[in-house]
Amino acid sequence: MRQIWDFNGGIHPPEHKSVSNQNPIQSAGIPGQLVIPLQQHIGGPADPLVKVGDTVLKGQKLAEPLGFISAAVHAPTSGTIADICDLPVAHPSGMTDCCIVLIPDGNDQWIQLEQRASYTDLSPNEILHIIRDKGIAGMGGAGFPTEVKLHPPKQDKVKTLILNGAECEPYITADDMLMRERASEIILGLEIMAFILEPDECLIGIEDNKPEAIDAMRAAVAGTKIQVVVIPTKYPSGGEKQLIKILTGQEVPSGSIPADVGVMCQNVATAAAIYRAVYFDEPLISRIITLTGDALQQPGNYEILIGSQVGWLLELAGAREQQISRTIMGGPMMGFTIQSADVPAIKTSNCIIAGTREELPPPPPAQACIRCGICVEACPMELLPQQLYWFSKAQEFEKAEHHNLADCIECGACSYVCPSAIPLVQYYRYAKGEIRQNRLEQAKSDKARNRFEFRQERQERELAEKDAKRKARAEAAAQAQAKKRAEANADEPPKSAAAPDDRKAAVAAALERVAAKKSAPATDSKTGTKTENTPQRSLADIQADYDKALAKLDKLKATAQELESDDPAREKMERAISKNETRVEQARLALEDAKNNQKPDSADTPSASETVTSESQVSPGTSAVPPTTEKSLDELQAIYEKAQAKQEKLQNTLADLPEGDPAREKMIRAIDKNEGRVIQAKQEWQAAQSATATLPIEIEQLEQNVEKARLKLDNMKSSLDDAKAHQPELVEKLQRAVQKNEMRLSAAEQALEEARKNSSTTAKNDTSPSTKPTHDRGF
Ligand code: SF4
Ligand code: SF4
Repeated sequence: MRQIWDFNGGIHPPEHKSVSNQNPIQSAGIPGQLVIPLQQHIGGPADPLVKVGDTVLKGQKLAEPLGFISAAVHAPTSGTIADICDLPVAHPSGMTDCCIVLIPDGNDQWIQLEQRASYTDLSPNEILHIIRDKGIAGMGGAGFPTEVKLHPPKQDKVKTLILNGAECEPYITADDMLMRERASEIILGLEIMAFILEPDECLIGIEDNKPEAIDAMRAAVAGTKIQVVVIPTKYPSGGEKQLIKILTGQEVPSGSIPADVGVMCQNVATAAAIYRAVYFDEPLISRIITLTGDALQQPGNYEILIGSQVGWLLELAGAREQQISRTIMGGPMMGFTIQSADVPAIKTSNCIIAGTREELPPPPPAQACIRCGICVEACPMELLPQQLYWFSKAQEFEKAEHHNLADCIECGACSYVCPSAIPLVQYYRYAKGEIRQNRLEQAKSDKARNRFEFRQERQERELAEKDAKRKARAEAAAQAQAKKRAEANADEPPKSAAAPDDRKAAVAAALERVAAKKSAPATDSKTGTKTENTPQRSLADIQADYDKALAKLDKLKATAQELESDDPAREKMERAISKNETRVEQARLALEDAKNNQKPDSADTPSASETVTSESQVSPGTSAVPPTTEKSLDELQAIYEKAQAKQEKLQNTLADLPEGDPAREKMIRAIDKNEGRVIQAKQEWQAAQSATATLPIEIEQLEQNVEKARLKLDNMKSSLDDAKAHQPELVEKLQRAVQKNEMRLSAAEQALEEARKNSSTTAKNDTSPSTKPTHDRGF
């Protein structure tokens, strides 16, 4: 006698089994329409292999398993595929799902089947393949694909293979009748599973309320090592974990599967289906179902085709529709009320109860929990149903999970005993559904977040790469520019340093050109001979040019004064001023040149004593001084002295003006302008003197002039040196002043030289005592 154990909790509801177990199993026959859901089990739905309009044979595969946990679907009979669409399915929510609608042709014609006399010729894997191919799924509970279940983790050897014949729920007698009538098929199926798993022992657990089944099974196992173990009747001893506890004394820890403790549990109906599949090549297209309830005239167990609709089945069992209060699919403890008679029976459908109002009265209104704790005593999973109820009701799903809600087998024992008639199991089902949904959404959200983070990371990486490339390009461009600048600097001096020198050089070149023009005789284009310089434009035009250039320069300077020191336009303006200063200087020199070259109106009527000859006008190295024939020497001297006096006055005024005074510029220009007049007047006077005779006293005067010009130039140079050290802003101006004074000194020296030459010539020519100089007369 094998030892058995008890499990905690459990209840003893009325059995109502005799309603359906009085008659042998009957064939339900072929209904007018079969509705075959693509998902009749835990896992993924099957993928249709047929289309609407196809004719199929009995046993033909209609849908292929999709994914690891999935099961194939076959045609329960021959016929035509009428539709593939969503239709109501067996679910507490009344949901719809994709179904294949098959219209039987009545021939019930099988596909070609390959029958086997023995399975021992096959390898375990070949048998597993057959089990998968024939769509065998657990027929006692959730419908887990059997082939997958027969693949326990390699490290978990199955020591005990249990066949579940407990069938503990009230009303249901399908397994009982199967064991009674087809015990040998069940045992052959068990042997096939044992062949695959090679367990140490095989046990068949049957509640003691099924004596005929026990006898039949014992007879079937005679001569084998398989043990039939009779267990006490107590709900829910047919629960997998409870049966394992009863037969082996082992408890399956929370969150574990039976294989973790070396045990595997299969349903007796599943064993019979494996036998049919392996020996006769028959797929799972039918099953034994209990049609029961006081509303049925012929309750009993029927072998039905999968896909038979509930309405048709109840009609078959002689349903008195008016008396049906509720139709339940499954047992009264774990089953659910179906919303429509159109839902089909599937591989896991073991019972349909058409209950009358007296039999299945509507549940009384739920009352408040009185914390009696009876539910705790009834729970076979040793949970706290009262706490789970509170957490589920308050939607505190995390706390419910913490209290092992997942271990609840939804046996309904707690609801059955609750004096407050609280539908506890419904709360647990709701909570489980919400948790499942939240997990799906969480997984979806995690996936989306991962995608977003990955995308963001990729974008940041691409941005960084772009940035790095941009920086590298900018650096390369900067290096190339630096290289170009370095090469340019190597070839020529820096622009900023060279600019003043360039301007100075330009001014000097312009002055040289003017001086050369003044000193060189013009060339006659026709004769090719040198002629006197002849102004091309009138003096008035040249004067106008000069005045215009001067006015423009003044305007530019006034504009520059108005600009802020940090105004970017200021630099441009300063360059323009500098350029215009050069132009003014050129214009001024051109004007001087023109004045000097202008022929006297009465050049042909000079007085021998008062006029200058044409030859005397041209002196190498000096400006050509137009001879004055109308003015006496005294008048010319007066003009010269007057210009000189004015010059001194202007210079004194300039000396009185403070540095930075805008009037200084004007004054300097006036001085420069007047300087030209002084020089011109002086040259005219000297020329007149030369034309007559150059007296020693005049030479003395010229010598003083030279000395004076030299002194001034020295002072100017000294100021320039000072400015270079302390006032760089005046350097340019003083440089121009130095240049001018150099020119003046040069002019003074040439005038002196000329005078001396003339004096010498006069002395040579004038040998008569009357013409001898006074100071020579004394020798
Ligand atoms: S049996 Fe019902 S009333 Fe009693 S504690 Fe449990 S839930 Fe509350
Ligand atoms: S339905 Fe769940 S909580 Fe209630 S008795 Fe059964 S296992 Fe325990």
